[in-house]
Amino acid sequence: MYDLTISNATVVDGTGGERYLATVCIKDEKIVRIERGGGAFPSQSDVDAQGLILAPGFIDVHTHDDIALIANPDMVCKTSQGITTVIVGLCGYSPAPFSPNADIPAEYDILLQSHSQRFERFADYLEAVKQAKPSVNYLGLVGHSTLRLSVMDDVNRPATDREIAKMADLLVDSMNAGAIGLSSGLAYSMAQKSDTRELIELCKAMSDRNGFYVTHIRNEADGMIDGVKEALKIGRDADVPVIFSHHKAMCDHNHGTTKHSLKLIDAAAAEQTLALDVYPYCYSSTSLTRERALRGGHIVIARSDPMPQMVGKSLCEVAELLNCSEADAVDQLAPAGALYYLMSEDDVQRVMKYPMTMIGSDGLPFDEKPHPRLWGTFPRVLSRYVRDIPVYSLEEAVHRMTGLPSKVFGLKNRGVIAEGNFADMVLFSETEVADQATADQPKKTSKGIAAVFVAGKPPSEHQGKSLESRHVLPCAGSDNPV
Ligand SMILES: [Zn+2]
Repeated sequence: MYDLTISNATVVDGTGGERYLATVCIKDEKIVRIERGGGAFPSQSDVDAQGLILAPGFIDVHTHDDIALIANPDMVCKTSQGITTVIVGLCGYSPAPFSPNADIPAEYDILLQSHSQRFERFADYLEAVKQAKPSVNYLGLVGHSTLRLSVMDDVNRPATDREIAKMADLLVDSMNAGAIGLSSGLAYSMAQKSDTRELIELCKAMSDRNGFYVTHIRNEADGMIDGVKEALKIGRDADVPVIFSHHKAMCDHNHGTTKHSLKLIDAAAAEQTLALDVYPYCYSSTSLTRERALRGGHIVIARSDPMPQMVGKSLCEVAELLNCSEADAVDQLAPAGALYYLMSEDDVQRVMKYPMTMIGSDGLPFDEKPHPRLWGTFPRVLSRYVRDIPVYSLEEAVHRMTGLPSKVFGLKNRGVIAEGNFADMVLFSETEVADQATADQPKKTSKGIAAVFVAGKPPSEHQGKSLESRHVLPCAGSDNPV
């Protein structure tokens, strides 16, 4: 007698291999039997999956859900897309280990809305998440900017040897508690003045602990290639795997630069372990600053604390309404967040096609009008980039959302539908699955997702767990990069 059977499903198992018809049987959180060809078996409950795709639950490798896991443990913005595991702590921002005395600069508001949301030790943060019982599984990185703010009296300079040693201690303590590595956001003001040596030394501190270096590189516009080279050097010198976050080329005159960056990354991949993530949109989202406003391009306000009535309007419109320059409008809107229309479709597709690219939403869960990637990323890949523009076959798209990240991050018994693995799964219609979130209606749930299971249970039963990670991926260049 099984706990659950999913009968006559078309299984896309996450390995990238071809789909097959089967009945999948679940007992005690795990897949215990896969009967190829299908059939009915005695079970407490059965889901008839005729005509539907059964895939491993999606793994969102790039999120800012650190606090959402605690504040909104239902995590509907994720489970409604078929996501069953999230990685948090990206771009240098993590709510722990955060000194209670540290200043929190305005730019930090993409992660924290209040001072009470920070935790002195990573173990305290993980305990708070555990108590909140989120619907999805989670793994956390330690933010480089968080370490700097906790240890340095002034972040507008490189760290001294003493400060690096203190940061390394906090990093190691966090990894002992369960953190999986270090993230950086070198384009943000808290980390802009760090030097390469500081990052190499921090990464060295975690190299014998299976740590990952996950980086929002120093510059994603004019200095993008130098930013890639710096990340490669950090990984090489410290002997840690490097994951490039939301790889992109911003501003019109830099479009096409991903051809060069991917060649560089691919050449390096023969000697060091590397991967990338991408979100399937031509526009980005982060806090609104003068510097970013001055890059030009179309900018739409996603959040403004003092002027919520301006949310949804373009910066140009706001400047007209306030009868001031765009730069002055930024000052009046701040603290604020915005959408930036600065990427090209060709670059997005080129990065998506690179063999070591995974999918990560990068959504900001507390924006008033968030980038639609928060609610739509995974179904958008399955509709726009499988059905409409065939960038991927369905099998390959699912692999990049499940089996590949599971392999990269060394998740045990997850990411592939196989006997003995945890029953994290999503059932969806291949012809109907689609994102419905748009810039105007960013919180619209996707369609075509029929059911989601976390360890064999619906997300409403809150079975999400803290996962362990152990990278085992050998370095390997690809045969056909770009
Ligand atoms: Zn980032």
